[in-house]
Amino acid sequence: MTNGPERFTGSFTQQEPIPEEGIAAAVEVMRSGRLHRYNTAPGEVGEVALLEQEFAAMTGAKYCLAVASGGAAMTTALRAAGVRPGDPVLTNAFTLAPVPGAIAAVGAVPLYVEVTEGLVIDLGDLETRLGQASVLLLSHMRGHICDMDRLMALCTRAGVLVIEDCAHTMGANWNGVPSGRHGVMGCFSTQTYKHINSGEGGFLISDDDEMMARAIIGSGSYMLYGRHLAAPPAAVFEDLRFEVPNVSSRMDNLRAALLRPQLRKIETQAKRWNARHAVVEEGLRATPGLSLVERPAQEGYVASSFQFLLTGWAEEDVRSVLSRCAARGVELKWFGNADPVAFTSRYDSWRYAPVPELPRTDRVLAGLLDLRLPLTFSLEDCAMIARIIRQEVSIVWQARAGSSRPGAMG
Ligand SMILES: *Cc1c(COP(=O)(O)O)cnc(C)c1O
Repeated sequence: MTNGPERFTGSFTQQEPIPEEGIAAAVEVMRSGRLHRYNTAPGEVGEVALLEQEFAAMTGAKYCLAVASGGAAMTTALRAAGVRPGDPVLTNAFTLAPVPGAIAAVGAVPLYVEVTEGLVIDLGDLETRLGQASVLLLSHMRGHICDMDRLMALCTRAGVLVIEDCAHTMGANWNGVPSGRHGVMGCFSTQTYKHINSGEGGFLISDDDEMMARAIIGSGSYMLYGRHLAAPPAAVFEDLRFEVPNVSSRMDNLRAALLRPQLRKIETQAKRWNARHAVVEEGLRATPGLSLVERPAQEGYVASSFQFLLTGWAEEDVRSVLSRCAARGVELKWFGNADPVAFTSRYDSWRYAPVPELPRTDRVLAGLLDLRLPLTFSLEDCAMIARIIRQEVSIVWQARAGSSRPGAMG
């Protein structure tokens, strides 16, 4: 037996290796020298075109475009949807920097909507703002999906186009409909920390002929759109090809080769992720002072991370939990930090855009803690992580409850 409390030694940023099949396919692409997606031998169909066809089939979308990043998918989608400089674009206040970044990249202005304790867009608040914009870039941040039936009904009635940011919902669904298939376009990321890993990369899916043709030309297809498999008919491109600016952001064959075998495994991987999520959730259930995030029955999530709330806690107590867990090897991210750290940033740190007053979001973010659950963690690892968090949260909670300022616990 060792002395002292148990300590976790795994790495929260270590993903699994690329499947051998993907490595072999990538080596094949390198041997061919034909890395550019449109550099194909006579009769050859490139890896990117095949990947697009496979991703369209997986999501049930008519069309798919693979691009250089999730951020590129969103900017390409916004341009394809006709967003112009100066236009306001609605988005959740709880999201990651590439989302408001994509809006700003097309010269548009993010208009943030409050989030709920369930970590999804506040539909009541959204309803009051629908008259202010014609596009909503909805972020399923950390894989939490709002009531999509209600959201689509509200947006359709108001004539607001919905573009989904599915960076954390690949393989997920709402009420059986795949994430990314409710809105007019869905954007995905294949960056290392998402569900499939090509270092960088992304997808855009849609059933809309004109928007997809605009997206394909806009992502840099030159006049080679005929080499796509999951694309609208050639006639749709005829007029558009003269008016859509080329902003090169294509995916290359090397990345597509890495991704194709990963895509085939996505369902199994989703189960493995959710098993890890369930172990952490069980381990933290009924911890005094800690709330779990409620997940509705219609939400078919694929969890690659875990969130919990220390609602109403004093800042010094949250900091104390962070440092005590860190001392035992458990890296928690805190969305309440006034200073943005690593991947966690807040709407008020994106100062290129107007910073509104969002009291409900502020209260949620102040108590929001987040941890990654890479598939390199075993179920035992996840149980240990939950034990450590539970113990440290309880110690800080009890110390505060026993102190002279119990009111601070809210
Ligand atoms: C990662 C991420 C993206 C896309 O990121 P890229 O790094 O550009 O691929 C978009 N939205 C959210 C919420 C993300 O976490």
